[in-house]
This record gives sequence, structure tokens and C-alpha cells, in this order.
Amino acid sequence: MNPIPQSIKAFTRIGEENALTVLARSVELAEQGRDIINLGVGQPDFKTPEHIVEAAIRALRDGHHGYTPFNGILPLREAVARRTLTKTGIEISPDNIMIMPGGKVTMFAAIMMMGEPGAEILYPDPGFPIYRSMIEFTGAKPVPVPILQANDFSFNAKQTLSLINQNTRLIVINSPANPSGGVASRGEIEKLVKGLESHPHVAILSDEIYDTLIYDGQNHVSLLEFPSIRNQLIVLNGWSKTWAMTGWRLGWSIWPDQLLGDIRKFALNGWSCVNAPAQFAGIAAIDGPQDDVEKMLKAFDRRRGIIVEQLNKLPGFRCSTPKGAFYAFPDITQTGWKAKEFATQLLEESGVAIVGGPDFGSLGEGYVRLSYANSIENIEHAIDRIDQFLNR
Ligand code: PLP
Repeated sequence: MNPIPQSIKAFTRIGEENALTVLARSVELAEQGRDIINLGVGQPDFKTPEHIVEAAIRALRDGHHGYTPFNGILPLREAVARRTLTKTGIEISPDNIMIMPGGKVTMFAAIMMMGEPGAEILYPDPGFPIYRSMIEFTGAKPVPVPILQANDFSFNAKQTLSLINQNTRLIVINSPANPSGGVASRGEIEKLVKGLESHPHVAILSDEIYDTLIYDGQNHVSLLEFPSIRNQLIVLNGWSKTWAMTGWRLGWSIWPDQLLGDIRKFALNGWSCVNAPAQFAGIAAIDGPQDDVEKMLKAFDRRRGIIVEQLNKLPGFRCSTPKGAFYAFPDITQTGWKAKEFATQLLEESGVAIVGGPDFGSLGEGYVRLSYANSIENIEHAIDRIDQFLNR
């Protein structure tokens, strides 16, 4: 018998999300009895608020066990439209909203739709690793947009626009950003939008999954606020980070009219629909009390202050204050360590899980990402251990 043939060549180009690999290694070490502090994975350490869990249980008891419409139940899409209106002042039709099995699936779908050999796709570097992985999978050329500390960990609009040519099919924007916590300013976004107006052949994927996690009284600027690019714009959002629902696999996206037919077919071919009780939970999350969200945000903000202050006391660490999300992204070049080796050794020897900057792109060299979605006690212990590790 012949062995099964190998998977198609595209699968040799597909990458990984190393934060999840670090998580798997942390679990393995913990199972061996090691005391591990996990600042690696990007998920809230809070439980999903109780009223949201109850809504899912109620939905199951009420018999919502079957398929739902492939684009999501109407009351949930209406809730997303209401939330969008409240947050951005922009009215979106529930027809343009797709309920997705997590935030990630929107980037998967958008990149699959726009990527092919000969096409070019712009993505943030450092940035969420799946952008580049999926771009390479499609055979398109990944074109990194530098996200530099010198630019406050935001894109520079002029530089970004200079990377666009006639082959560019898609540009991925992410603010607040993973892994840097950078938030693009309204001014820079306006400049980018102005430039994109003269490139109507370029679709835009705006990953706004951290839109609630923004500090110092700033308001999130959604690309939805710019009607001139609405026909080019796909917005990625979801419940994972705002309502502490990473394991529910629930997200939404907003699509321009001309891509609706394709995304609907993609959903039908891929996942049929998102699980029904999670969708009812999603309504409760949006329409219910937001006290827990505010409490989480306050807790993240407190931890942000503590982690930045303490990281800056470590020899060789320089950390600017992140403006959003829940990651600190210090520059560790002065320690003399390569970032990935540092992260690996730190986990193996000192039991602290963090992620090396190069896992988010080549411009991440010299940086490490620490998630502060963890208790103050754990953050302080972790920093003590890093200090001891550096002073061995
Ligand atoms: N986009 C960014 C920038 C992220 O950091 C993440 C998760 O870490 C996602 C999307 C994916 O979200 P989800 O867990 O809902 O798939």
C-alpha cells in the first residue's frame, strides 16, 4: 500500500501562533510539577460574566440545538449593529454582519479571498502571526508594514501608502495592536484613509478585536468612521477579549456589499454556522450590564502601570507604556540576549512563559511580549524571577 500523499505544497508555507505553542509547553511543564507563571498567552484571566454564561445555558434548555442561519441569528446581528452604532456612531445593516467562529476566522477568510500568487498583501510587522502565515499559505507576497517603537508602535501612513502598487490586494491594520499595545492616532488613520481613497483596488482588513481595551481616556477610532473607504473595508471584531470569551469561539465581522456573496459561501462551505448557545450568549454580552467589562478594563489598567514600572527596573529592559490591549512589549537588546532564546530559556529555567518578539515578525527582534492579563501577584512574581534570571 502506498502511504497517503503529502498535503499540498501550500501547507509547507503555513505558520504557527507561537503564543499557543508556548502555552502548550507551559502546560506540559506544569504537568511535570513545575511552578509556571504564564504571561505568554493573550487571553483575559477573568471568567466570562455570569449573565452571559446563563444566557447560553438558557438557550440550550430552550432547545436551541440546531443549525442557525449561516450568517448568525438576526437578533445577534442586530445587537452587533446596535453596539457598532453606540461605539462608532455609524449605522450598519445587520445584512452586512457575519457571525463567525472567533475573530481569527475573519482574517482567515479575508486573506483567503484576496490572496493568490501574484497578489501582494500588506500586514503589520511585528503583528499577529496568523496574518503572515495565511498570506504565505495563499501564495501571495507578504509585504511587512513596519510598526516601530519610534512611531509609538503605530504604522506611519506615508510609509505604508508607499508600499502599495497595482498588485496590492489587501492591507491589514490592527489597532490597538498585538503584540505592542500600540494605538494608531486619529491623525495617522486619517492620512492613511485619504491615501487609500486613491487605491480603490485595495481591500482593507481592520482588526479591531481590542477596541474596548484602550486606556488613558482615549477613544478607539474605527475605520468604519470613514465612509469614503466603506466599499473596501472588512472589519474584524469579536467577543474573545472584551467579554473574556476566548474559549467560546465567537466573533463578528462587517463586510462590504460586493464581498457578501463570497463570505456567505465561504461560511457555508466551512462551518455552516456558529454554535447556537454561544450566539445567545453573544446577545447577552452586548445587551447586558457592562460592569464586568469596566472592572476588567480597570484591572488591566492597574496591572499595566505595575508591569511597565517594574520592567523598567530590570537591567537592560526598556518598556514604553502600551496604550491599548493587554501586552507589554519591552526592548531587551541591552540585556545582550536574542529575544527568542531569552523567552525559551526563561520558561525552561525560571518557569515564566513569555513570547519572543520575532514570533510576531522580523521587526520584533530585540523585544519580548508579556501579557498582563494575569494577577498583580503573578506579574510581580514573574518579574522577580526575570530579575533573578538576568542576574544569575
Ligand atoms: N486579532 C488579534 C490581533 C488577536 O490578538 C487575536 C487573538 O489573540 C485575534 C485576532 C483572534 O481572536 P479570537 O480568539 O477571537 O479568534
